[in-house]
Amino acid sequence: MAFGLSNRVKGIAPSPTLSIDAKTKELIAQGRDIVNLSVGEPDFGTPEPACQAGIAAIQEGFTKYTAVPGINELRKAIVKKLLEENGLAYEIDEIIVSNGAKHSLFNAFMALCNPGDEVILPAPYWVSYPEMIRLADAEPVIVLTDESTGFKLTPDMLQKAITPRTKALLLNSPSNPTGAVYSREELQALAEVIEQHEFYVISDEIYEKMVYGIEHVSIASLSEAMKKRTLVVNGFSKAFAMTGWRVGYIAADRMIVKAMTSFQSQTTSNPASISQRAAVKALDCFDTRAIELFNKRRDYVLKRLRGMPLIECIEPQGAFYVFPNVANIIGKSYNGTKIDSANTFATLLLEHANIALVPGEGFGAPNNIRISYAVSDQDLQKAMDRLEAFLKEVE
Ligand code: PMP
Ligand code: GLU
Repeated sequence: MAFGLSNRVKGIAPSPTLSIDAKTKELIAQGRDIVNLSVGEPDFGTPEPACQAGIAAIQEGFTKYTAVPGINELRKAIVKKLLEENGLAYEIDEIIVSNGAKHSLFNAFMALCNPGDEVILPAPYWVSYPEMIRLADAEPVIVLTDESTGFKLTPDMLQKAITPRTKALLLNSPSNPTGAVYSREELQALAEVIEQHEFYVISDEIYEKMVYGIEHVSIASLSEAMKKRTLVVNGFSKAFAMTGWRVGYIAADRMIVKAMTSFQSQTTSNPASISQRAAVKALDCFDTRAIELFNKRRDYVLKRLRGMPLIECIEPQGAFYVFPNVANIIGKSYNGTKIDSANTFATLLLEHANIALVPGEGFGAPNNIRISYAVSDQDLQKAMDRLEAFLKEVE
């Protein structure tokens, strides 16, 4: 008999993306003039028709439990979307809707992993993947990538990471935090390796709409064999600026969807009924102007960063992040304070330059920092001016 937390939660650090955002918002509320480039959240609103559908759902009393994997209307709309936009033919019972793609991913790891299983995770990775894999008692097998391959996993790297314990490969294209997007040919080359083995692919495609001069390809669409072993993860947070509504989904083999549905039925039940109704409408309201806007901001940030000393930055092809390399800054000093890590650099930027961004450590990339450019043009310009001025003091 003893008080105390489980070993499971003892080791978990809070999500750095969410905690830096929360801390920044608190400082802004206290009156600090900080530009928040930390969290990955579109700066525009949820489409009006989706909001209206949510309001109508409340007014009609559509406020009760729904089917655990989501209402048929939404799952049907997702089936149509996957067919028309991704060339993927699923039946309705191969779709499960959850409380955000984060929840979908957690369901997937919990449904697939046994203790000792390995999940191949290319780094830089989104902060929550390794923690979720460990929560499912599996082991992340981290494969480091860097600028030399455009932050992409190559077939050779993949081959070397595969062991008899490999249960899944996590692919995230377009990538958070690097903005890397795999081309069809690159995915095909990975698929050739994958198809020689028996393991799943968890393909997080939540940034699929945010691509600049390159098409998004779902690895599941390459062949029937790839589709069978792939869990396609997607959601409404990024494309439809619906981060607070919490709607994400997975399309996968019905045996896996059935297991995730049982798991969800015992843990969270259905995602919010109101959010589901809004999501049905959102699917018809994608605004391509947002992509043009993001593209312009990406070009602007890149141009500014490339004009600054000590910073190197490859061009991201997707998502709404740039992931500059700050290795040349680490080891230098700012007004007498040693910058001994990306973490220290980010802390100094927050304290002395009023810029919030996420240091690379949490993404498995300690030489980089992540900048979200999903903020207004004015804020972006202000942040770049401040960063440039700060760097002039670094020696
Ligand atoms: N995957 C990636 C790569 C992300 O960046 C995020 C962050 N929003 C998610 C999944 C989860 O998104 P949500 O839970 O808001 O649907
Ligand atoms: N995914 C976004 C980010 O990386 C939102 C925060 C989170 O869920 O981690 O900033």
